[in-house]
Amino acid sequence: MAQPPTVLVVGAGVVGLAVAALLARGCCADRLRVLVLDARPLPRWRAEDFDPRVYALSRASQQLLEQVGVWQRVALARAAPYRRMRVWEGADAFAPSSIDFDSADIGEPDLGTIVEDSLLRTALGEALAAAPQAHLQVGEIESVTAHEREVVVELRNGGSVRGTVLLAADGSDSAVRRLVDLPVTGHRYEQTAIVTHIASSASHQDTAWQRFLPGGPLALLPLADGRCSIVWSLPTVEAERLLAASDAEFLGELNAASAGAIGELTACSKRVGFPLQALHALRYTAPRVALLGDAAHTVHPLAGQGMNLGLLDAAAIAAVIEDALLAGEDVGDLKVLRRYERDRKGDNLAMLAVFDGLNRLFGLPASVAPLRSLGMRAVEATRPVKRLLMEKALGLAAGRTNRLRWSRAESQA
Ligand SMILES: Cc1cc2nc3c(=O)[nH]c(=O)nc-3n(C[C@H](O)[C@H](O)[C@H](O)COP(=O)(O)OP(=O)(O)OC[C@H]3O[C@@H](n4cnc5c(N)ncnc54)[C@H](O)[C@@H]3O)c2cc1C
Repeated sequence: MAQPPTVLVVGAGVVGLAVAALLARGCCADRLRVLVLDARPLPRWRAEDFDPRVYALSRASQQLLEQVGVWQRVALARAAPYRRMRVWEGADAFAPSSIDFDSADIGEPDLGTIVEDSLLRTALGEALAAAPQAHLQVGEIESVTAHEREVVVELRNGGSVRGTVLLAADGSDSAVRRLVDLPVTGHRYEQTAIVTHIASSASHQDTAWQRFLPGGPLALLPLADGRCSIVWSLPTVEAERLLAASDAEFLGELNAASAGAIGELTACSKRVGFPLQALHALRYTAPRVALLGDAAHTVHPLAGQGMNLGLLDAAAIAAVIEDALLAGEDVGDLKVLRRYERDRKGDNLAMLAVFDGLNRLFGLPASVAPLRSLGMRAVEATRPVKRLLMEKALGLAAGRTNRLRWSRAESQA
């Protein structure tokens, strides 16, 4: 009897694990096998440690995680829904030119949820462990060779694995992308994001706070234990100085930057720096290979959307593979994979351009500030525009394949 097709997923970050879980627990689970490869073993989430890596997940991402049965586990363990978002530029977070997004205005319970990376990966890993046709393997890839009917991956430790199709979710420095020669365009921002958790004298009010500063945006994201996660993008030289500074020195400058929005910032955890870049693959597909997540596109974190875009990719490629299986097609055929590329590339490119543009706009000199302020006042005063922005950020205005995917899952339930 012919073997079922094998989907090789390279990268057990959230995007790789999510696409594996969608396939291994989806409508065609009994018609395929899924093998996930990562250079490192999965992290194990522990309630007593707070992972410095957190993501603001949209409603569309939450729905995907519900579909694979992990959202409840995540929400019960530790997650922080945020109901409002306040965006401002000058010294006063409540100035008339600040923008206040409120989930109540669009009839939603929240605008998103802050979740730890290690918790997401632990929960997705457990979901995969419960799926008999899914396997996780530790191994770093050395080469990728596409043949007429299969793709072969050689591993650094000497072994090799074969699949019908390879989904590359191996991050912004994707080895698969390099090995199969898929070109990219992009640039380094000369900015580094400092990430840490902070305690404050006033409540975060379940609000995500974002101040645009000349050197880059500062975000304060509410955590379930009352603290906030900081994502502070700065010129790299400044960031390196602050990464090396004492806690007191760092908190002094952070307090000046946050301008008292949530009172005095009193303590911080270990600081980690992430150099920032914009990157987009000119093509997402090659024979038997598709790129997804940061391997296909890496965006500025100012809008907290990189992971959300990657999860939309995961939903789109899983839907395309399932449709191909149901139609009796070869799931690694380039014409099948290109359906995914057509579905996602335009949306990803548009979002990348918006985030890039926003970062440039707020980096312009002070002489432009009155114009920016006028623009922000206009957004604040125009309810339909605010509504549209909130719906876009929640992923409620998502692409075609994702809507199809959700409805197909619902109709099977
Ligand atoms: C400071 C900061 C804050 C952010 N905040 C948000 C946010 O709030 N919301 C949001 O949506 N997005 C956010 N993002 C973006 C988000 O972090 C990324 O978009 C997301 O992590 C991409 O996930 P991924 O699974 O595609 O890649 P990754 O998370 O990079 O995972 C790649 C995986 O591939 C493995 N791998 C790499 N090379 C190999 C190899 N050769 N062989 C085998 N395995 C390999 C790695 O070990 C890793 O497990 C933020 C980014 C930054 C920098």
